[in-house]
Amino acid sequence: MLGFITMPPAHHRQATDLKNQTPTKQPIQAPELSWNEAGLPIADAFDDPYFSVENGLEETRYVFLKNNQLPERFKVGSGPFRIIETGFGTGLNFLATWQAFNQEATSERWLHFTSVEKYPLTKEQLTKALALWPELSDLSHQLIERYPPATPGFHVLSWPEERVTLTLIFADVHDAFPELSGPVDAWYLDGFAPSKNPAMWSDELFKEIRRISRNPSPHRIPSVATFTAAGLVRRGLKGAGFHMAKVPGFGRKREMLAGTYQATTGPEKSAQHNRLPWQLMPAPLHYGSHVVIAGAGLAGCTTARALAERGFKVTLCDPEGIASGASGNPQGGLYIKLAADDQATHSDFYRQAYLLALKEVRRILGDPAKDDTKAKYWDECGVLQLAYDEKETKRQQRFIERHQPTAELVQSIRQESREGLLYPAAGWVSPVDFCRALIQHPRIHFNKTAVIGFSGEQNNMTLEMADGAIHADALVIATAHQVKELAGENTHLPIKKIRGQLSYLDATSLPDLTQVLCARSYMAPPINGCLVLGATYNLKDDDPELRDSDHQTNLSHLTDFGHEWEKAASTADIIGGRVAFRCTTPDYLPMAGPLVQKQAFIELFQPMTKNAKRIPREPMPWLSGVWLNIGHGSRGLASTSLCAELIAEQMIGDAVCSSQTVTDALSPNRFLLRDLIRNKL
Ligand code: SAM
Repeated sequence: MLGFITMPPAHHRQATDLKNQTPTKQPIQAPELSWNEAGLPIADAFDDPYFSVENGLEETRYVFLKNNQLPERFKVGSGPFRIIETGFGTGLNFLATWQAFNQEATSERWLHFTSVEKYPLTKEQLTKALALWPELSDLSHQLIERYPPATPGFHVLSWPEERVTLTLIFADVHDAFPELSGPVDAWYLDGFAPSKNPAMWSDELFKEIRRISRNPSPHRIPSVATFTAAGLVRRGLKGAGFHMAKVPGFGRKREMLAGTYQATTGPEKSAQHNRLPWQLMPAPLHYGSHVVIAGAGLAGCTTARALAERGFKVTLCDPEGIASGASGNPQGGLYIKLAADDQATHSDFYRQAYLLALKEVRRILGDPAKDDTKAKYWDECGVLQLAYDEKETKRQQRFIERHQPTAELVQSIRQESREGLLYPAAGWVSPVDFCRALIQHPRIHFNKTAVIGFSGEQNNMTLEMADGAIHADALVIATAHQVKELAGENTHLPIKKIRGQLSYLDATSLPDLTQVLCARSYMAPPINGCLVLGATYNLKDDDPELRDSDHQTNLSHLTDFGHEWEKAASTADIIGGRVAFRCTTPDYLPMAGPLVQKQAFIELFQPMTKNAKRIPREPMPWLSGVWLNIGHGSRGLASTSLCAELIAEQMIGDAVCSSQTVTDALSPNRFLLRDLIRNKL
């Protein structure tokens, strides 16, 4: 026993606390900019330019790259290299780093750049500012294309083919940093001069830098560079454990600061003291490890792709073939329903996941606007969530008033016979085609067989298949409601299996439909004369056969879609249908992450049954080598890509692209912890 953590620090929220505050509360404000005679942006509020008036690109290369010993450090080693920046601004530092990474990094390196920005530039401002750097234009275009809408919180932009991830956080650093954890390899402290922006360079900022820098890995010693030589910054960084030096500044600036983390300033606690036991991940897997994934639906296929792109060898197994379960529906709506009220963590997760999923679908399936042949796989035709009764109308009004979302994300609209919330970038996707395209990767091998058991531990596992045994380094279970068949009794996964029936209607005599409409049911624009309508929602119902009564339920929901659909409710021709079973969790968030052994956890964490705040400082008894990606309900198209990223990052030992709050809320072990605290096990 290593003792107890009696009071978890305020920023370390527990997986059990679902109503927490996240850094996403403040609406986003774009900066007011002036452009000087040379075309450089100047922030009016701070009266400071975004970069040196002499040569911004050279300044970045000197101040941030050279003084963090980059790109030299990209040339050695393997695995993730993580940079954290204060103040994304125009993205110049990011782009210059990406360029250097492209030119110098070994093929086993992955750049993870995390940047926080309180006043994100609009896309137009960004485009104008980046036009100053023709030599970065290839990369700037890619950034501009993926630049997120002005919604608060975490955004993940990933270029797997370049081995680059940008986690862009639209928030004040003081709200964002408590949500981050290490490892970190280099700090870029930008963010206007301390004299112009004193609120940012606070004691709290340096405390967070100290906490995040305390990495468990002796091989990843963070460095820091900043353009300023101000005494308060030097003292702050020294206090955060950095050995600091004043070095010559760029151009006309006399001095700047650079340093390396040494942790020699006082009795430093180990990295374990920074985090709650369940926030410390198992040891990372090595580059090129072999991972078996059970289940080839959306969860399994997105995970396979994320792992293969990070250099893992993947064997994807499913006895029923690709996307045979709930992911096998011919059309699925790619959209989310954001909470009007308190469920901040749900909304943070689903908004981030949805924006990533849109990018992933476009990357993997191609652009239907540019290539007609792609139109049969997906369409970004917009999704309209109808205000179909009084309760939903009020909910939507509350949502708009409270969140004032950007129109790029969602807008309140009134059409002739309908009103509701329009997600203009959303649409429908053929999940089967998406799954098939995801696994087109040279490091993914599909095996049409069942994984029926496992033994051993991470890096040395034996997986029993229906057709023999194979060795692997880890296993990801992505078998939705069938999880218990493989995860076994020694786990605590209170999932629900929900039957859903779709009805296929002959579209020839139906009104035109150009958008996905959602009310009690959803329907998408027809393909090949067939309109997909559904799905029903039945708990504790294992019937795999189509039922006429369920078709009638679906048809009765047509009246929600406007008066032109009323007739169809009694006259539409049903030409088929499909039954599938969704897997949901008690809190309607997926489960993504490493799995713990139930009995060992209960024994070690028993003191928490008496006092939930008395957390034993024990390492988690992981079910070694076993990870989970399940519980996506009917939102798998939106939620699986982010969960796959998260698992891949956790497996390689990278910092994750979600906030700690969201990561905790997705932990497969959260119900075990919650029920242990409530004495319900
Ligand atoms: N690194 C940027 C680039 O490559 O273009 C330039 C950064 S600019 C000098 C400083 C940035 O810090 C501005 O974009 C500003 O909005 C941001 N900033 C200022 N205070 C902040 C705070 N408290 N939290 C987050 N960002 C902040």
